[in-house]
Amino acid sequence: MSSHSTGSSSPRRITRIVTGARVTEGAGVKLRRLIGQPELPMLDPFLMLDAFRSDDPGDYIAGFPPHPHRGFEAVTYLLAGRVRHRDSAGHEGVIEAGGIQWMTAGRGIVHSEMPEQEDGLLQGFQLWVNLPARHKMDRPAYQEHGADRLPLERRDGDVEVKVIAGTTSRGTRGPVVQPLTEPLYLDVLLPPGARFVEALPTAHNGFVYVVTGTVGSSGDDGRPLRLESDRLGVLGRGTDVELWAEQGPVRFLLVAGRPLDEPVARGGPFVMNTAAEIEQAFDDYRQGRFQ
Ligand code: FE
Repeated sequence: MSSHSTGSSSPRRITRIVTGARVTEGAGVKLRRLIGQPELPMLDPFLMLDAFRSDDPGDYIAGFPPHPHRGFEAVTYLLAGRVRHRDSAGHEGVIEAGGIQWMTAGRGIVHSEMPEQEDGLLQGFQLWVNLPARHKMDRPAYQEHGADRLPLERRDGDVEVKVIAGTTSRGTRGPVVQPLTEPLYLDVLLPPGARFVEALPTAHNGFVYVVTGTVGSSGDDGRPLRLESDRLGVLGRGTDVELWAEQGPVRFLLVAGRPLDEPVARGGPFVMNTAAEIEQAFDDYRQGRFQ
């Protein structure tokens, strides 16, 4: 088989379906971990993806009391509920439903993430995006945007694309900017039977996470494949991802980023390049050098 010319498209098929593992984090918050567990340890530059959805306060009320981070970015996207965020540098606010907080931990931050509700549904995601070695010790920074600040791209057939980070093939630009990994983060709604095609940068790694309904796509062998809700599909190499609403209206996240291709050393809430840097992070934290 020969390719025709530069600019020709090739499908990005789903090479793996990930179910995830139940984990308990923070002071007792129940989550499902899709990335960052044995089934899928990482998808460079993505280190972790946790999904949470519960209307039982016992699953979330304990929240995440103060804890440190260093060396990466923690991205919280809420679909329902409210989460109060507070850090040791005095930065504080509430992430509301439909809002995003893109936190660049850089050289270090100590923060708490607590539900701002005693009952009702809390639903959302936390994605960890790695930083390259030369930027791991940058100053901490935030990009925070409420639901009303995220542009909505409407396509034929009542397709809605909420753009959090990156730019769609049709030119809609999300408010989050991160040139180090050039992330694309879309929240897509398809009515029953609708189809969605999007070109991703060829070097990017990417995944689809199904929030509701059943998404159709094609598998490694080119055959149609069903991706049920709460499952993550890893995208293979190619240009265009094609997804459709196989059953019911569907909602999914489409996320992609440029891999860093650097060694990764992890230690709890720190992600560096070497074990010595992890030790240094624990030492700095114990010595109060995170502020
Ligand atoms: Fe945190």
